[in-house]
Amino acid sequence: MAPSATSTNDHANSTTKLDFTTFSNVINGKLVPASDDATRHGINPATKKANPPVPVATKQDLDTAVEAGRVAFKKWAKTSVQERRDALLKFADALKAQQEEFAKLLTMEQGKPLMFARNEIDTAVVWLKGLANLDLPEEVIEDNEDRKVIIRYTPLGVVGAIVPWNFPVQLACGKIAPSVLTGNVIIVKPSPFTPYCDLKLVELAQQFFPPGVVQCLSGNDDLGPWITSHPGIDKISFTGSTFTGKKVMESASKTLKRVTLELGGNDPAIVCKSVDIATVAPKIATLGFLNSGQICLCVKRIYIHKDIYNEFRDAMVEYTKTLKVGDGTEDGVFLGPVQNEMQYGKVKAFFDDVEKNGMKVAVGGAFKESGGYFIQPTIIDGPEDSSKIVQEEPFGPIVPIMQWSDEDDVIARANDTKMGLGASVWSSDLDEAARIAKQLEAGSVWVNAHIEVSPIVPFGGHKHSGIGSEWGSSGLKHFCNSQSLYLKKKV
Ligand code: NAD
Repeated sequence: MAPSATSTNDHANSTTKLDFTTFSNVINGKLVPASDDATRHGINPATKKANPPVPVATKQDLDTAVEAGRVAFKKWAKTSVQERRDALLKFADALKAQQEEFAKLLTMEQGKPLMFARNEIDTAVVWLKGLANLDLPEEVIEDNEDRKVIIRYTPLGVVGAIVPWNFPVQLACGKIAPSVLTGNVIIVKPSPFTPYCDLKLVELAQQFFPPGVVQCLSGNDDLGPWITSHPGIDKISFTGSTFTGKKVMESASKTLKRVTLELGGNDPAIVCKSVDIATVAPKIATLGFLNSGQICLCVKRIYIHKDIYNEFRDAMVEYTKTLKVGDGTEDGVFLGPVQNEMQYGKVKAFFDDVEKNGMKVAVGGAFKESGGYFIQPTIIDGPEDSSKIVQEEPFGPIVPIMQWSDEDDVIARANDTKMGLGASVWSSDLDEAARIAKQLEAGSVWVNAHIEVSPIVPFGGHKHSGIGSEWGSSGLKHFCNSQSLYLKKKV
């Protein structure tokens, strides 16, 4: 493939600079429009202006990509792990080399402030490299005079990667790396709200992987269901809402596809009375409002010990007042807009419910009525445990704070949800913190931190927050069949 480009030698492996103004699907190593030439466009959420056109993949395009993937798989599955690892590491370096262009594009399509967009590209690079360096060695289970029994992990085939709009680059990289490292091929489907960076990411990948190994299709709302029901796709790696995850699993079951579902969260943070308020209150507010609250692992329910409640709330409020909301291209902005109109409407419903039920607003509460989908960071002071803001995931910059006094009771309240993605305990007494942490029902639990994930640590949700896990060596296994090989030494 030869994207319109100029060459650069600005990093160890010479790569071709991408053109960030035109966007094509990537099928079998080629940049292609939709087979019927149809296009659509995303919206810049800070200005509500149209972003450039992107293709709307047709069913025919998907069939072509699946066919190309199946052909590519035959050879790719036979390459050595070291060859695949080398390709991934070079791909990661090339992404780093064009970080600034990707970051600007990410701010334009997703809305996040430029400093966080740069950070997402950095994180994506760390994820590609961290995952590339993992191993999935054969395990010898038995070895005696009679026989040797080995467990080995073989690739599944074609992976369909369905990506949400909140971290389009990092989450796509978190699926590409384990797929190709284990010998699979992958078709990436970005969210229709954020197709741009993923199309460019996969275009970049063509410089390091054979045709058909990493492909990307941008489409409309039909494309996801076509992928989950396609008989030529072997596995779905899905990240998105619990609502959609259930549909994905139902559809994938008809062809017995393997599925990994990384779904929604409603993460509790339990703050004990021994914390240093001046340090912890701003941290917890940050963890609630990062990416304008649009992270599956954002802190979404904050339980503060009654002895420090008022002081802790006031410290959170003071800090929250310093957070600037605005267009992500402006200096000093911490909260960009909410990513799209649908999400803006969903978050607004939480504010309407707060108002209707006369809940106390400690800070925020306002919608900035200017060009984009802006919402001031908002803290709701002491809502009922049964209220919408406590029970549901807003996925926007609004968090509830509640009092607690009894340890068993707060653990029960924290666990009283169908979600089980992340949870945290904040305390200067590490024994107390560990005791509470071990009783929380979530896939990732932190003491004195939250959201701190790693490519070498498995990530997944309990309960309705997901099925299976990604990342880490055990995440790699979800991209593989397990084969028990019995090697008899004598006939
Ligand atoms: P979403 O479920 O609406 O969409 C996710 C992806 O699924 C998009 O690419 C979308 O086009 C596609 N899709 C929609 N309907 C489909 C269908 N019927 N079949 C197949 N694909 C379909 O989610 P979103 O609004 O993009 O993201 C927000 C949600 O994702 C939140 O709930 C958040 O907590 C969750 N999330 C979870 C994680 C995690 O790792 N657990 C990470 C990020 C976001």
